[in-house]
Amino acid sequence: MITTRRHFLSTGARAAAAVAVAPTFAAILQSCTSDAPVGPTGNWVELAGSLQGSLIMRDDIDFAQLNTQYALAYLSVIPQAIALCESEADVVACVKWARRNNVPIVARSGGHSYAAYSRTTGLLIDLSQMNSIDYDPATMLATLEGGAHNREVYRTGRAASVSMTHGRCKAVGAAGLILGGGIGFNMRNKGLSCDSLVSTRIVLANGEVITASATEKPEVFWAVRGSGGGNFGIHTQFVVKMFPVTNVTWFKIQWTSELERIFDVFQDIAFAAPPEFGVKFMLNASNENGPNKLYIDILGQLVGDEAALRALLKPVYDVAAPSFEAMKTLPYWDAQEYLSEDGDPEYVHERTRFAFDKIPPAGRDTIFKYMREWPGTSVDVIWKYFLLGGRIKDVPNDATAFPFRNATMISAIDLEWKPQDQTVLSENLAWLDAFHDAMEPYTSRNCFINFVDRRQTNHLEAYYGPHLERLRAVKRQLDPDNVFNNPKSIPL
Ligand SMILES: Cc1cc2nc3c(=O)[nH]c(=O)nc-3n(C[C@H](O)[C@H](O)[C@H](O)COP(=O)(O)OP(=O)(O)OC[C@H]3O[C@@H](n4cnc5c(N)ncnc54)[C@H](O)[C@@H]3O)c2cc1C
Repeated sequence: MITTRRHFLSTGARAAAAVAVAPTFAAILQSCTSDAPVGPTGNWVELAGSLQGSLIMRDDIDFAQLNTQYALAYLSVIPQAIALCESEADVVACVKWARRNNVPIVARSGGHSYAAYSRTTGLLIDLSQMNSIDYDPATMLATLEGGAHNREVYRTGRAASVSMTHGRCKAVGAAGLILGGGIGFNMRNKGLSCDSLVSTRIVLANGEVITASATEKPEVFWAVRGSGGGNFGIHTQFVVKMFPVTNVTWFKIQWTSELERIFDVFQDIAFAAPPEFGVKFMLNASNENGPNKLYIDILGQLVGDEAALRALLKPVYDVAAPSFEAMKTLPYWDAQEYLSEDGDPEYVHERTRFAFDKIPPAGRDTIFKYMREWPGTSVDVIWKYFLLGGRIKDVPNDATAFPFRNATMISAIDLEWKPQDQTVLSENLAWLDAFHDAMEPYTSRNCFINFVDRRQTNHLEAYYGPHLERLRAVKRQLDPDNVFNNPKSIPL
């Protein structure tokens, strides 16, 4: 529907630009169509006329549909207009126009920033229509347009039996994913998403387009691999090296008893597991059948067969029989359909901490204590970790901007709620903060930029760690006026 409208608007926008230079005709047209949407006015007419894609103003019929975001809690920041870019030239036109007219800009690809940092009160430069992927089997290189999503990676990967380290959520943008490092079930075996990046094209704040790779602007190439989206410019292309896929065994297993022992024993298994094992561990609390019923889930994949997975997991099965078990060996992309999620918009606040060792018994007790004291919303709360290690550590920590390659896990508290939970929200957020603070001694002060968090106060240390000064130097060079910024971005 939007596609049809887009072409209409595009034509309409060009007509509007022509009208701008013929005021007499414009006045006649206006008097005949007083109930029609206003469309771009003032300086916006010039921008609309220069775009191949369309410019959707606040009063346009499509605006509400496009003014969405994964993080529903932050929808109150409303752009003046959304540019649906169809080409790199459109992105350049938006940036140059916004600079001339002093309008704030932000890029949006998948709109899945946890803090909704792809929103602005100015011009939202939306790349979601620029979502093609070309794959060359001879080189195993995939060329992703800047607005491609995991969804298109799945489609291209399945057709060619190749993959990269992608996320589970099909609606997440490859731009945000790759620029923030990018974690997924392949990362321990194949590295982070950013480790597969070969080159990228970036529209800078002055409208210049640069290519960064190991040989072209290598310091920029260093900086964009792991420091997060929204820092230096707008990426319109990513060239990524893919790897061939084979069968994997996917699994989802649940326990409702012996939880502390399951926690410890599974952690031992996970830390000793081969890189072919990718896993997310979740301790959940639910209010569905009485207050704060706890249960554990593990979700992931093993490049190997079911027998190998069962052998790996035997110690934890010896502690207690699972209350639910699903596992199956399948071709890689069939397995991903069981592991993936759509990522529909929701009310959520996620807070993370990197850990550099195992969670010790006192840390485990702290986690269980807070989960048992959860004030409660209508959605299950989760404390979880994504197991790191494996080949992520094969890359030296200063080889890319991703600052915490030696971490063992990313731990996270995932609080979700529904509109009817408003009355208990402040209590839940206070609990979230106290829990997050209580975990610092057992994890670290470092946090994951891809799960960017508005409540994180030491954000420069937390997100950029040892790389802050080097990143600032690149920032000063590429974006000296700090055009690309959000409250947690790299300062000048
Ligand atoms: C449901 C869900 C599941 C997730 N799963 C994973 C996962 O498995 N692995 C993982 O690593 N992360 C995951 N994330 C985190 C996700 O990678 C980050 O939130 C990422 O920033 C989202 O990218 P996006 O393009 O969708 O978001 P957007 O909101 O569009 O952008 C995020 C940031 O990047 C900037 N940006 C967007 N496009 C561009 C561009 N083309 N050039 C430059 N800057 C740009 C934006 O301005 C903003 O600052 C998940 C997030 C959610 C909500």
